[in-house]
Amino acid sequence: MDFESFFKNELDGLHQEGRYRVFADLARHRGDFPRATRHTADGTQEVTVWCSNDYLGMGQSPIVTEAMKRAIDECGAGAGGTRNISGTNHYHVLLERELADLHDKESALLFTSGYVSNWAALGTLCSKIPGIIVFSDAGNHASMIEGIRHSKCERVIFKHNSVADLEAKLAAADPRAPKIIAFESVYSMDGDIAPIKEFCDLADKYGAMTYLDEVHAVGMYGPRGGGIAEREGLMHRLTVIEGTLGKAFGVMGGYIAGSAALCDFIRSFASGFIFTTALPPTLAAGALASIRHLKGSQVERFAHQERVRRLRSLLDQRGIPHMVNPSHIVPVIVGDAAKCKWISDLLLDNFGVYVQPINYPTVPKKTERLRITPTPLHSDADIDHLVGALHSLWSRCALARAVA
Ligand SMILES: *Cc1c(COP(=O)(O)O)cnc(C)c1O
Repeated sequence: MDFESFFKNELDGLHQEGRYRVFADLARHRGDFPRATRHTADGTQEVTVWCSNDYLGMGQSPIVTEAMKRAIDECGAGAGGTRNISGTNHYHVLLERELADLHDKESALLFTSGYVSNWAALGTLCSKIPGIIVFSDAGNHASMIEGIRHSKCERVIFKHNSVADLEAKLAAADPRAPKIIAFESVYSMDGDIAPIKEFCDLADKYGAMTYLDEVHAVGMYGPRGGGIAEREGLMHRLTVIEGTLGKAFGVMGGYIAGSAALCDFIRSFASGFIFTTALPPTLAAGALASIRHLKGSQVERFAHQERVRRLRSLLDQRGIPHMVNPSHIVPVIVGDAAKCKWISDLLLDNFGVYVQPINYPTVPKKTERLRITPTPLHSDADIDHLVGALHSLWSRCALARAVA
């Protein structure tokens, strides 16, 4: 086989569909979020980042960077091993305690990313519990889908955020089979939020355990940043809460929180936890500082929500259509892969505004979009500039306006 031609042909297909991914080559500026320098073939350009998952700018906060510097001076670069073989650093232990406390659970367990935490935890639960059926929301993230798929257990996909469909599917399943309901709180592409209480009620009624991905909510919702379940007083009703240290906490890593027995079970049986080098102590120290700070401070969360409201109201004034949702994510739908990429390129090249186009398969075809994520560090002038740029492109590209 001619492997090289095979690779090139597959890539040509992506190009033709207008969904070949091009990465923006950025150097972020320490302490100056959302500014970055973009490197191109022709030189460099100063840009404002409008699509970061560093939702609160904590990745540039001295609270986090100073903690990381101290940890590298104390402990050096890497962890030096897997968690089992010499790699458990004291910062990992402190961080797991902090996470358990954040979600009011007995225990927590760290992974090298949120992706790995979902893949490993769901993969292990679904493969080790005999006869288990997983009920998985149709909108679930790739990491949950892959974990479930890997386990080879029986799986039932229910309509996105649909209490009625989930109930119908639970009722139709073998009443004696163990069950797990897997879903997210804030869905990252539409910014909608799951009916967590209703799903927990169904879990009680049908004897299922619950697995909630709070990746797009931890740090940002709830009085201590414990997520939507904390805000709604529901944390105790969830069997497993999963989160990331790489989005609002600004660093990297993933985790689950749950009972001591459940976390010990995953710790002891999950290949994706056991056979990999532990996170560098610096990351654990940075995440620890970030979580502790956001537990005690509402300033960032209030400012974040205020910026989101301001951006939405200015978009409304200019008739730029954006999806209505109860979260901090502002999706501006373009509905065409090539046009979406084109607008994104123009925003970057002509206005220094960086918003990555989001295309299929991340979102369904015809709903291609610009996913805008305002942060507390975007100024009034930044918002005016973004909305002005969108306004001028909307006129140039003859895109549909929202009717006021
Ligand atoms: C980003 C994301 C993850 C993965 O988290 P990482 O820490 O980035 O690996 C998991 N679930 C959802 C819903 C996500 O959006």
